[in-house]
Amino acid sequence: MKNGDILKQIKEELPPEANISDIMYEGANIVLYTKNKDFFLDSKEIIRNIVNKVKKRVELRMDPSMLVPPEETQEIINKIVPKEAGLEEAWFDYKRSIAFIEARKPGLAIGKEGQVMNEIRKQTLWVPKIRRAPVIQSDLIKTIRYTLFQNSEYRRDFMNKIGKKIYMTKWERDSNYWIRVSILGAGREVGRSCMLLQTPLSNVLLDCGINVASTENAFPHFDAPEFDIHKIDAVVVSHAHLDHSGAVPLLFKYGYKGPVYSTEPTRDIMTLLQLDYIDVIQRTGRKPEYTSREIKEMIKNTITLDYDEVTDITADVRLTLHNAGHVLGSSLVHLNIGNGYHNYLYTGDFKYARTKLLEPALTKFTRVETLMMESTYGAKEDTQPSREECENQLIDIIKSTIENKGKVLIPVLGVGRAQEVMLIVEEAMREKKIPEVKVYVDGMVWDVTAIHTTYPEFMNRDVKKQIFGEDANPFVADCFVRVGSQEERDKLINSRKPCIIIATSGMLTGGSSVYYFQKLAPNKKNAIVFVSYQAEGTLGRRVQRGEKQVPVETFGGKVEMVDVKLSVYSVEGLSGHSDRNQLINYVKHLDPKPRKVIFVHGESSKCLELASTVHKLLRVETTAPRNLDALRIR
Ligand SMILES: [Zn+2]
Repeated sequence: MKNGDILKQIKEELPPEANISDIMYEGANIVLYTKNKDFFLDSKEIIRNIVNKVKKRVELRMDPSMLVPPEETQEIINKIVPKEAGLEEAWFDYKRSIAFIEARKPGLAIGKEGQVMNEIRKQTLWVPKIRRAPVIQSDLIKTIRYTLFQNSEYRRDFMNKIGKKIYMTKWERDSNYWIRVSILGAGREVGRSCMLLQTPLSNVLLDCGINVASTENAFPHFDAPEFDIHKIDAVVVSHAHLDHSGAVPLLFKYGYKGPVYSTEPTRDIMTLLQLDYIDVIQRTGRKPEYTSREIKEMIKNTITLDYDEVTDITADVRLTLHNAGHVLGSSLVHLNIGNGYHNYLYTGDFKYARTKLLEPALTKFTRVETLMMESTYGAKEDTQPSREECENQLIDIIKSTIENKGKVLIPVLGVGRAQEVMLIVEEAMREKKIPEVKVYVDGMVWDVTAIHTTYPEFMNRDVKKQIFGEDANPFVADCFVRVGSQEERDKLINSRKPCIIIATSGMLTGGSSVYYFQKLAPNKKNAIVFVSYQAEGTLGRRVQRGEKQVPVETFGGKVEMVDVKLSVYSVEGLSGHSDRNQLINYVKHLDPKPRKVIFVHGESSKCLELASTVHKLLRVETTAPRNLDALRIR
């Protein structure tokens, strides 16, 4: 069907008694508002036929003027939803006739075959949408949900505008059709991932990250001649890490007004990381490039997608996000360009192996012609020991330290590794492989973990089974204790009891892990375990290398020399990235086999080496572009 005619065609399909008061777009979906109560409650068949005809998602809602008032609706919901569902808040999106109902057990709030939901619908005329309430209270999730709710009218108009732009653009692919991609960041480097994909009709930005390790080259090449902020149609964020999402708010400062696509966990975690990022900059007395105002703009303009949900994002680009296995909500970005003309897969960061938390990255697709993939661990020496080896090594270290009455400090990155370590420790304790002690989870790590408890759907089969089947969420196990204040930190340090401490940052470059290190280092009973890469020049690297006296910057900014007497360990292989073998195996197992592979997000030598190896091994065209290179894809 031709674009532009969809709303008209839908109108023609509807019987006169449908009494439609409004018909509009909601992004790539279409929403009808009716003033006929009976039609609202009993028109499934008609709507289904329309969906089959127009091949778009169509939703029918009651006209806002005819809804049961919110207070009354709340009472009805309280009555209908069974107690065991753990009903929490309900939010009323009165401009879109949707009641968002938060429950601890969404399954029970939905009811068998949707019975409970249907009853709410019938009695209140609202469209109920059941969502999982965070098991651990999260102020951040509350703020995000409240921001969306507060901007109900803005969201309705914004989504309608997007839909109009997608469907009202009339086009036909002719022999002049082209696709190109420009590398604005992460070309032969790690950090500031950003690629601009263009067609005659569309400008789509894939990731928009920062380089946290650099002040001079922190942001993507917005100075590239083909980059015009006012022409960007859509931004897709593969996952929450700042080197992929950190510059998104900056786009809004520069005047971007369009949508940002990501999964729900990515939206929430990137918000948290961006807020933390500007906070850290401010504390060092510098002025951040953007403020919480631009972060809020980003939230208002973010459209979240589930894995495998197909959606049009421009007139000629169709987007699907798939599991990437890297961190919670991380996605492989699949773009169907030009109505099946070319299929482009951008991996973001990905793990092609199962972890404690996530399934491996997806390899089966209907079509993929070009693959653009990360190369972080692309060098010959970048092979990781097996998962089991690493886990056992970590467990042994913890066991001996605790039996020796010492404390174990595990410095981590807030997202990914931290939760992986939590799951390993929880399981080991449950299976009595290590003695039962408290596991202190500090600050940011706790906040990110709270977000994890909200989205178990994105985790692997085992964790899901644990949470849904046995009703035992490992993240809220008794052993975990939140540490939020300096007083609490001092208390646990001064206590004689052995314990485990999980804190940021991973390389001892700021955050509470530095404080714990300073206090624990002089006692040889204690241990520090590095579970992630330690960059040259960081305190973590010096300790890892075996220096016996190191300078530590204390909270007040003073530098103090600290004697390192505690045991120092490194456990490699818990990485959320694919190692070299997994990278190569991913290309090998990708089904269908791509025609061209583009390597990005790796040091120069690694990108080039991988490109050459994969070319020889698999006989596909490969390339490792530099920043500001532009590639013609078709
Ligand atoms: Zn990442």
